Parts: sequence; structure tokens; C-alpha cells
Amino acid sequence: MTDKKGGDAAGDARVDMETLVSLCKRRGFIFQSSEIYGGLAGAWDYGPLGVEMKNNVKRAWWRANVQERDDMVGLDAAILMHPEVWRASGHLDTFTDPMVDCRACKSRFRADELDSDVCPSCGQRGTFTEPRMFNLMLRTFVGPVQDDAATVYLRPETAAGIFVNFENVLTTTRRKLPFGVAQVGKSFRNEITPRNFIFRTREFEQMEIEYFCHPEDAARLHAQWMRDRMAWYARFGMKADRLRLRAHTPDELSHYSSATSDVEYLFPIGWAELEGIANRGNFDLTQHAKFSGKDLNYYDDERKEHIVPHVIEPSLGVDRCLLAFLADAYDEEVDEKGEKRVVLRLHPQIAPVKVAVLPLSRNEKLTPTARDVYARVRMHWMTQYDDAQSIGRRYRRQDEIGTPLCVTVDFQTVEEDQAVTIRERDSMAQVRVPIAGLVEALRERLVDVG
Ligand code: ATP
Repeated sequence: MTDKKGGDAAGDARVDMETLVSLCKRRGFIFQSSEIYGGLAGAWDYGPLGVEMKNNVKRAWWRANVQERDDMVGLDAAILMHPEVWRASGHLDTFTDPMVDCRACKSRFRADELDSDVCPSCGQRGTFTEPRMFNLMLRTFVGPVQDDAATVYLRPETAAGIFVNFENVLTTTRRKLPFGVAQVGKSFRNEITPRNFIFRTREFEQMEIEYFCHPEDAARLHAQWMRDRMAWYARFGMKADRLRLRAHTPDELSHYSSATSDVEYLFPIGWAELEGIANRGNFDLTQHAKFSGKDLNYYDDERKEHIVPHVIEPSLGVDRCLLAFLADAYDEEVDEKGEKRVVLRLHPQIAPVKVAVLPLSRNEKLTPTARDVYARVRMHWMTQYDDAQSIGRRYRRQDEIGTPLCVTVDFQTVEEDQAVTIRERDSMAQVRVPIAGLVEALRERLVDVG
């Protein structure tokens, strides 16, 4: 449950968090929430590049887990739900973390994240209060009267929306087991110590799947989902030596889970949970049936029996996933002139901008053609136009935000051949193609862009 520290052999090549935070701010990926008012802890805003990248991460996940499969459908449930949902799910009673305060400096910590009785803020020993359990759900009120009867919670996970709609999805889609429901959306947790940039925040997004199956198939399908999810990270280019599956030890498992594995990534802060893949048994449907009084059984035609399906839950944070993609893609190299080149080696589907159109200079002979090329390309992909400063500086700017391809318009283009140069981010190789065939040539190089 903690943001584990520590590294290993791969550690040296890793980017540190400060470098990432600064790049994200400088280039418009991620800003502190309400920055001009001094910020709000645990909340971050996605800037022009960040929103593109975040949408790409969600689209890549949705495509692989919904569109490309014949056993999955989607859902988008409301953030506000009936408060009984959280009694049934156990969140009201048990979604808590132990909290301690330092009597000397008033800092607050999660007790399970402290290694000793020395306060990390002021260094004094033995100043902590006894741990108190603190519920992580954020509360608000619906309607004009702010009393207990009007209390609702901002959902702490998206999964509950899927469970309470199980019957609706089943009857409207006439699905047979096994099948799954996927959902992407905001979740809120009043984390005691939000930290490590977008790794642990109070407002975040989740991409969750509830895959319903016959109890006999659950263990096998759990193993299959672990393979599928690991294959997804590989498909989008995440480095294999920075990813691992770690099975929960018996004392880590929730009481209802028969098996849970975390996909862990070697973040700048060390190995830490990126995604949880749990075999949750039939706990959730059983609880919601009990608390709602509705029948959430499934009738198995072939076996002629009523069952409460078991469920496999792969659950991933969008923000944490984006952080992993950024950290994984970050690279620095020194060019022939001894200058540092920062490159985000992002998969084309994840990169916020796919193509940059760069006229060699601001010379008026070049502008109309360059603008025309820009107009053509941006109909197909997120494209930037940049004519400020030297072409070398502009390539570097695009490398730093992970743009896979740059298109350069020069004098030869307008005076001789109506052709442009495509320059590849990773190899820096350049190839000349006619403007008439440019879109096709770009498409070939951006293989697989959905
Ligand atoms: P942790 O141990 O990090 O507190 P958890 O085990 O409570 O996480 P889950 O409830 O399994 O997390 O949530 C599933 C996923 O949602 C996590 O793997 C993570 O990617 C994401 N997530 C959970 N809490 C946060 C948070 N506070 N900020 C950002 N992402 C989060």
C-alpha cells in the first residue's frame, strides 16, 4: 500500500521525479491545481499536451479492452451514487488508513508508511499520537439541506458503478458468461499524504474492468488477464525490465479476494503499484444483492443453475499510467556537437502530438506551402506548426515532447520538387517525399495509430 522506495540495477538510467515535474510544467503537460492561489495539495491540472496524452492513454486502453474484444462492453456511471452503495461495498466501514500526528510540528502521516518513531518533518523522536483510523472517502451533500440524510460520497473507485449496473447490462446486452464491463472515470480519495506528483492524488482517474465469470473459470481467467494486461504495456513500448507482476502475500489480501497481483513499475520513486488485478470472488454482487434486496443472480442455460458470478478486476489509474509512460519514455543523449538532446520516446499512439510541420525559416516564400501542408496533415493527426528559431532548436523542442515525426518545408520544396522532408524522432533519419503522397507516407510511419 505504500509508495515503496529503493531501486535496483536499472535505477541509474531512470529519470528523477524533479526532472519530469519540471518538463511537464515547462512544456504544458501538467500544472499544479489552482497554482496562482498557491496550489491545492493532491490535485493537478493537465495542460494542452497533457490532455492529449491522457486522452491517448485512455483511448489505447479502451481500444484494446473494449473495441478489440468480443466479450467486453463499456459503461459510464455517475460519480455520485446512493450512499448505501458504500455501506454494501464495505467502504464506509473499512476504507480507512491509519493516521498519526506529530505533537511537536503538527505534521500528519500515514502510520503504515513510517519506518520509525522519528518524525520525518522535524526529526523529533516519540512525538506521534496514537494512530487513528481515517476514512478516505470525500463527502458532500445533495440538495439544499446539509444534514446526514443528504450526505453522499464522491466515488472512491469506479468499480461500484459497474456492480450496481450488472443487471442492466446483462438484460440490455443479453451477454453470456464470461463477459466484462469497462469504465473510465474520476475517483476521489482523501489521501492523508498525497505526494509524488500525479502518483498519489486526491482526485484521479481510473480505468477499471469487472470481468464476470463462472466460479470454476475464475482462477484461469485471472491468470489470462494478467497476461493480457502485461501484453498491453509491451504493445505500447513499456520497458520489460521496469515492469513486474507481484502477487499479494496472504496478509495483504482483502478478506474476500482469493488472489491479487499488482503490476508494479519501476517509477522514479522505486518499484510501486501501477495496476491491481484481483480475483474478487462473488463478494461485490453478493453484498449489493443483500443491501439492495435485488436479485443479482445469473442463470446459466447450459448448466441449468443459478449462480452469483465471480469477478476478475484489473484496475489501473490513468494518471499513474501516464506517469509511467512519461518516465519510461524519457531519454537524454549527447549529440555530435556535445549538446544534450532530451527525447521522449513515446509510442506514436501515446504521444500528444504526432506530427510537427516546420518551415525552414519564416521566409515568405515558404509560408503558404508550409501552411497548406499543416492544413492537410492536421485533418488526420494532432499536429503542431512551429516557425520560431532555428530548425535544430525546433527539432529539439519536438523531441522533448515526444513528437514522432517532423515535416520540413524548404526552398527546394517551393522552387523545385513540391516535396518535403520527414524526419524521424528516434533515428533522426530523414527522407524526402512528395507533398501529394505525404499523408500516406506519414501514415506508414505512424503504424497502428488508432
Ligand atoms: P495504493 O496502494 O497505491 O494506495 P490501492 O491498492 O488502494 O493503491 P486500488 O484501490 O487497487 O489502489 O486502485 C487501483 C488503481 O488506482 C491503483 O493501482 C492506482 O493506479 C490507482 N490509484 C489508486 N489510488 C490512487 C491515488 N490516490 N492517486 C492516483 N492513482 C491512484
